[in-house]
This record gives sequence, C-alpha cells and structure tokens, in this order.
Amino acid sequence: MKRRDLLTASALAGGALLTSRAYAHVGEPGAELRYWDNHTGFGYEGPQDVALLDHWRKAGAHYVCVNVGFDMMPWSTTILAIADYTKAIEARSDLRLCATLADVRAAWRAGQMAVTFNIEGMGALNENLRMVELYYKLGIRQMLIAYNANNAAGGGCHDKDEGLTDFGRAVIREMNRVGMVVDCAHSGIRSSLEAMRLSDKPCIFSHANVRALRDHERNITDEQIKAVAATGGVVGINGLNLYLGEGPATVEGVVRHIDYIAKLVGTAHVGVALDSDPSGWTAPPAESLTPEMAALFEKYWPARQYPSSVKDDFLQPKALPLIAHRLSAMRYAEKDVRAIMGGNFMRIASQVWAPSRVVGQEAP
Ligand SMILES: [Zn+2]
Repeated sequence: MKRRDLLTASALAGGALLTSRAYAHVGEPGAELRYWDNHTGFGYEGPQDVALLDHWRKAGAHYVCVNVGFDMMPWSTTILAIADYTKAIEARSDLRLCATLADVRAAWRAGQMAVTFNIEGMGALNENLRMVELYYKLGIRQMLIAYNANNAAGGGCHDKDEGLTDFGRAVIREMNRVGMVVDCAHSGIRSSLEAMRLSDKPCIFSHANVRALRDHERNITDEQIKAVAATGGVVGINGLNLYLGEGPATVEGVVRHIDYIAKLVGTAHVGVALDSDPSGWTAPPAESLTPEMAALFEKYWPARQYPSSVKDDFLQPKALPLIAHRLSAMRYAEKDVRAIMGGNFMRIASQVWAPSRVVGQEAP
C-alpha cells in the first residue's frame, strides 16, 4: 500500500467513526456544528493536489481554505495554482468553490464541502495594487502581509520588521474595500499591530499559536492576541508540532492553545486552522540543496527557528471532531464549541467578505 493510500484508508476508518461520536457529544439535533479549517497548504504541484481534499471530506470537514501561493513562490505560479485548483474543484460534485457566505451555506445544503483560497504574503501582488481585486475575483478570501521574511508591503516574523510600507498600507485599505480578510499570521509583530490599527474590518491570524505557551517567532504575543480580539477578529490554532510544544502534534496540544486564548480574550476570538499537509512532503535534507536553495530556505525558514532535529508532524483533518469532543469534555458550552470549530470564522466572513458577487460592495 502506498503511503498516500494508507493515509486515505486511515482517515476513512477513523474520520467517519469520530465524526458521529463528536456530534453525539456536542451537537443537539439541528445544531450547526461546522468544522471550518481556516488554513491548509500542501505546496502547489498541480491539479492532482485537489485530491488531497478527500482527507477533509472523509473527516467530515465543512469548509477549508486552501493556500495557492506564498512569498517563496513566484507570483505567476500562484496564478497557475488558482487555474488548476479551480478547474479541479469545479470537476468535483462534492466540492464547491465559494465566493460568498451564501455560497458556503448553499454548499452545505447540497452536501458539499465549501472551499476558498488564501495567499501567504503580499509578494503575490507583484507590487501592483490592482492585483488585490483580481485575486478576490479569483477566490482569495484572506491574504497575509509577509511570509516570514520582509517584502514590499511589510515585515515578516523571522526578519527585522520595520513596519508596513506605504504600499502595505494601501493594500490593507484595498483589502478592506473589496472584502478580503487581512491576515496577520507569519508577519512581524510591528507590521501586524500596524495593520490591525489601520484596518476598518476585523482582522485574523489565520493560523498562529500562542507565544506564551511555545516560544517561537511564528507564534503570537498576548499583545497581538488582544489587538486582534479588539478588531473583532479570530486566531486559528495551528496543528504543527513545532508551534504547539515539545513532542508530537496532539489534539491536547491544540486544545491547550485554544483554551489559553479563550481565557485571555474570550471564546469568540479563537478557531481552528490545522495547516495539515496530507501529501507527506518534508523539507529536503540540507546537503541536497544548491547554495541558492539553501540561502532561500535560510531566509524563510532560518535554522535557529527550524532545527533539523525537529521533523514536521501535523495533526490531520480527522482531528477536527476530536478537538470538538475534547472541548466538550472540558465543559465548554455547546455554543462555544460551535463558535470555536467554525462559528467565529463564519462571523468574520459575514463581516468582511463582499455579501454578493459584486466585488468591493460594502458589507451591510
Ligand atoms: Zn503558513
């Protein structure tokens, strides 16, 4: 059995069972428990990547936001990823690429999983402000400022962050206008705080964990958590071991970070974004890299923050119902479990995304 077949089989066996068990504990009949995974990125290879979404389908996920590009990737490749993924999703009767929250609800009524796209870093704009509206029309519903390293818009979390540039400020305003969610994950502290002050819509950290629980530059400080909550925003907890704590990725680890944010700023400001990559991709060994590739890796994934001794270990989508189950077992109220598992990010969509397919229309 090939590695990918093995993963699919285990997701199928575990996912169906765990979904029904979690619903039994958490949801009253008719209650809207929705599994909204706010970020995944499996590294663009081609239209075949869309088959990986079967892992979310079989886990009972209702929504997933798929990454189509990041600052390490040429912006033109982002366009190719959007083209390939759009066509592959449209060919599937069980998936729907959604433009509006009404589309998301229509997908659920039809028994489909809702999908939108995200971009990690404003490098994908090629320093052209008009690209924001184009990307919105192509399905991008959230975009972060900078992926780990500085770019033309602002600072990355592993770089010397000097704050937003004039271009970065203009992009934030344009995102507000068209309805794209300002995502402060992966960005430097100063740039993220400036973006949250500037934005007149709620902001998010699409996938980021708590620095006080795990001291890593990709994780966010209490000041950032309080700032995003003050915008009405949400932090999506990431399921990667490196950002959770020592040892392998666990449901308990994710819940620990959820619980911290819930206690600090309330259950309305935390969600889930597992960042799973079921493709099994791992970084190539350092000795196999060309000098240029090694320099690129060091820029975006500095060895001081990404020691080779720590191998990537992600929670897979089948963990979604387990997280809900665990929160319920910790006596979180059912309405709070529903908010954390999907309701909070749905609120962001209702407040920020354009309510119709007319781009740039003000939300009511
Ligand atoms: Zn990321």
